[in-house]
Amino acid sequence: MVIEMNGHSISDEFIDLCYKTAETSLASGEVPVGCIFVQFSSDHPNGHVLVTGHNRTNVTRNATRHAEMECIDKIVAKFGSQMNKLHEIMAETTVLLTLEPCLMCVRALRYLRPKQVLFGARNDRFGGNESVYNVSTNELISDPKLMCYQLLSAKKSIDLLQRFYKQTNESAPKPHRKRLKTSADDSEL
Ligand SMILES: [Zn+2]
Repeated sequence: MVIEMNGHSISDEFIDLCYKTAETSLASGEVPVGCIFVQFSSDHPNGHVLVTGHNRTNVTRNATRHAEMECIDKIVAKFGSQMNKLHEIMAETTVLLTLEPCLMCVRALRYLRPKQVLFGARNDRFGGNESVYNVSTNELISDPKLMCYQLLSAKKSIDLLQRFYKQTNESAPKPHRKRLKTSADDSEL
């Protein structure tokens, strides 16, 4: 499958890499969310991968280490010393994400001004592209609007998240409930 969006042809190769990145996250005990930046330039009309990233909140014990922030750090490390160049590159870049970006990441991506963001499942708890709040095109924010589209597989993204939560529940210690015995004990399930 190829997704054609605003002049960028997003091939299976890129979509598979995005989900593979989320799988890597799962294998390392992190919430499985994958992110990749793909640039389409005159040198690379079919696109090439600039950076990849997945969640690293557990290993770093830092709740801001989302897949998008990992990618942003990598791209800034590469081109951040030349702000104009960074914006030029981002204008040619599609961000692929397995999950709708959260409020924080939508805001950070909006600073960076990629051409567009394509994501998989909606993020009902934290999504910054309308699911919780609309940060992507909110007029009160002065940066250019961030165009986000739900075009990748929501099912694949949700399957990965469900595998993670199943794995987490299975490895969690069984709760030992300690409490005083009361006359209501018999009624407790
Ligand atoms: Zn985020």
